[in-house]
Amino acid sequence: MKTIVIFLVSLVAFLSFNVHSKEKNEVNLYSYRQEFLLRPFLKVFEEKTGIKVNVFFTKKGLIERLKSEGKNTPADAVLTVDIGNLSTIANLGLFQTFDSKIISKNIPKKFRHENNLWVGLSARARIIYYSKDRIDLKDLKSYKDLTNKKFKGKICSRSGLHNYNLALLSSMIHHHGEEYSLKWAKTLKENLARKPQGNDRAQVKAISEGLCDLALGNTYYMGKMLENPKQRGWAASTGIFFPDQKGVGTHVNLSGAGITKHAKNKENAIKLIEFLSGDLAQHMYAHVNHEYPLKKGVNLSLIVQSFGKMQDGIDKGSFKQDLTSLPKLGSLREKAIRIMQKAGFN
Ligand code: FE
Repeated sequence: MKTIVIFLVSLVAFLSFNVHSKEKNEVNLYSYRQEFLLRPFLKVFEEKTGIKVNVFFTKKGLIERLKSEGKNTPADAVLTVDIGNLSTIANLGLFQTFDSKIISKNIPKKFRHENNLWVGLSARARIIYYSKDRIDLKDLKSYKDLTNKKFKGKICSRSGLHNYNLALLSSMIHHHGEEYSLKWAKTLKENLARKPQGNDRAQVKAISEGLCDLALGNTYYMGKMLENPKQRGWAASTGIFFPDQKGVGTHVNLSGAGITKHAKNKENAIKLIEFLSGDLAQHMYAHVNHEYPLKKGVNLSLIVQSFGKMQDGIDKGSFKQDLTSLPKLGSLREKAIRIMQKAGFN
């Protein structure tokens, strides 16, 4: 009996030590990135390093959550799909600077915060989806053409207050000012075929169904749709147009990561971001999610290569990208929200 008790006590001690040590080798992540996109990356990281990644996925309220949790936040790192969110968190003092030779080597300086409060991990362009049957490409040059009276009742849009559209409007404020941007939002609203609704893919579906001819959307969704048997037909009827090639360039946004001010597993968080900036993860961003990888030497997916090449900045392909507004997107976000509201866009 005594032996059994001793055995059980040691077993419990052994197990709790194991649980404890496992707890130590972990990293807690708050993510705006969708779980199905992120899981394949994290699985590889866990297998390679033995560090467990606990993820809290959310669509909204992540910044409020970080603020209210303060020192007690379980989050070590934050992953978002919009540079505006990263800047907001940085401006609130909720990120800490981090130093990693690997990250600095992998990701060019122009895609990192000046004090390394966040780092970009992938890029996406916000382009114009157009109906291949009903739109003459001669009518498209810039984002401004979407406000042409010719397109009255021909445009579909997701919410004007979605991060992706707010970032585009922020870049417009940066280049052309508030008055221009308000007029753009108001006249674009007058051209809408229906009340703003759905995500980017829903706009392509609407174009394929003839509900509208034009919409704004991110490049990678076209790749994702072409790979999806149910959505391939939508994508096939729709083309991608890179606006403002003769002007400031097509609007580009970044997905990226930062380390929280009160991170308890900072070293592991750095390791995770190093991994996400490395060849394997960058290859996955490019080939699993059809984004533009930021690390030099990582190739685009074949589908993205077919969209057209890029000129400068992200040194792949040859379309002109607007990178000058990137550092301003965070600080202009509040103005963009007010303009969308003033225009009654939604
Ligand atoms: Fe997205």
